Amino acid sequence: VYILGIESSCDDTSASVICNNKVQSNVVANQVIHSKYGGVVPELASRAHQQNIVPVVQQAIEQAGITKENLSAIAFTRGPGLMGSLLVGTSFAKSLALGLQIPLIDVNHMQAHILSHFIEDDGKKMPPFPFICLTISGGHTQIVKVTNHFEMEVLGETIDDAVGEAFDKSAKILGLKYPGGPLIDKHAKLGNPKAFQFTKPKVGDLDFSFSGLKTGILYFIQKQVRINPNFIEENLNDICASIQYTIVEILMDKLKNAVKQTGIKHIAIAGGVSANSEIRARLQLAEKHFGWTTYIPKFEYTTDNAAMIAITGYLKYLNNDYSDVSVTAKARLKVSENA
Ligand code: ATP
Ligand code: FE
Repeated sequence: VYILGIESSCDDTSASVICNNKVQSNVVANQVIHSKYGGVVPELASRAHQQNIVPVVQQAIEQAGITKENLSAIAFTRGPGLMGSLLVGTSFAKSLALGLQIPLIDVNHMQAHILSHFIEDDGKKMPPFPFICLTISGGHTQIVKVTNHFEMEVLGETIDDAVGEAFDKSAKILGLKYPGGPLIDKHAKLGNPKAFQFTKPKVGDLDFSFSGLKTGILYFIQKQVRINPNFIEENLNDICASIQYTIVEILMDKLKNAVKQTGIKHIAIAGGVSANSEIRARLQLAEKHFGWTTYIPKFEYTTDNAAMIAITGYLKYLNNDYSDVSVTAKARLKVSENA
C-alpha cells in the first residue's frame, strides 16, 4: 500500500510517500523567509505553501520511484495549525484524491507527531501500549497517555507558552535568529550548564509553565548587559547551556511525575523540540538510572514532516477510516480528537 502524506500546518511544506510503514521519500521545503521577521508570518506562509506544494509533491512521488497512479490513498494535515496554511494542503489533497479516485484521509497533526514512532526503520523499537509521550513542539507541550494508536489522553500540558516558544523567545532575547531552538542547542554544546541559575516554575504535577522563565531570563540578561554591554557575546555558550539545562530539567521532572502517577515506564518524546540533543541524552540516561524504556524519534521525524502524516494515514487506512470530501481544515484540534 502506497500512501502520500501532505503536511502544511505551519511554515514547512512537506510531502512523503510510504509503502506500508516504510518511508520511501520525505521532502521538506523550509520557508526561510520568516527568519527575517523573527517568527512565522501567516500570510507569507500560505503563499509559500501555494508555490511549493506542487513541486514538493511531485518530488516525493518521483523519489519514491512510483507514479501517482500507484497511490492507494492521500493523507493530509487537517489541523491544528495556521488556517491559511492548512487550507492549501487540504484543498490540494482533496483535489488530488478526487482526480485519482482514491480515498482521502484527514490527519491530526499532534497525533501524527506521536505516531511517527510507528514508522518502520531498521529495527528501531516501537513503543508498546500504553506508553507516555512527551510532546514538545513549537505550539504544544503535553504529557500524553497513549492507550492505542488513536486513543490518546492529555495528562498535563502547558498553561502558557510551549517549550519551543521558550527556546525561540530566549534565543530572540540573545539576538539569535528565528527559529532559535536549534541555535541554543548548538551553542549549549560548548557551554557550562551550571554557569547561571534560573528559577523553575511552580505549577501542577504534570503541567508546565514557561512564561515566567522567559521573563526571568529577560530580566537577568538586561541587568547583566547594563553592567557589561558585551555580556551576551562573552558568555553566549554558557547562557545557552544554562537555559537549555533548566528547560530540560523541567521536562525531566514532569516525566518523573508522570511515571510515578501512571506506573508506565515506556517513555517517548515527539515534536520539534525532541530534536534537542540534551533532552535526547537525558532520556537515554533515564534507561539506566530509572529503568525506563525510552523511544527517541529519528532526527528527520522530529520537526514538521509529511512522513508522520503518511504513517498516521496508513494506520487509519488499515481501519478503513477515510474522510468525506466535505472535510474542512481546523485550526484548533485536540490530540484526543480523531480528526
Ligand atoms: P506544533 O506541532 O505544536 O503545531 P510546530 O509544528 O510549529 O508546532 P515543530 O515543527 O514540531 O512545531 O517544532 C518546531 C520547534 O522546535 C521550534 O520552536 C524550534 O525552535 C524547536 N526546535 C527544533 N530543533 C530544536 C533543538 N535542537 N533544540 C531545541 N528546540 C528545537
Ligand atoms: Fe508540529
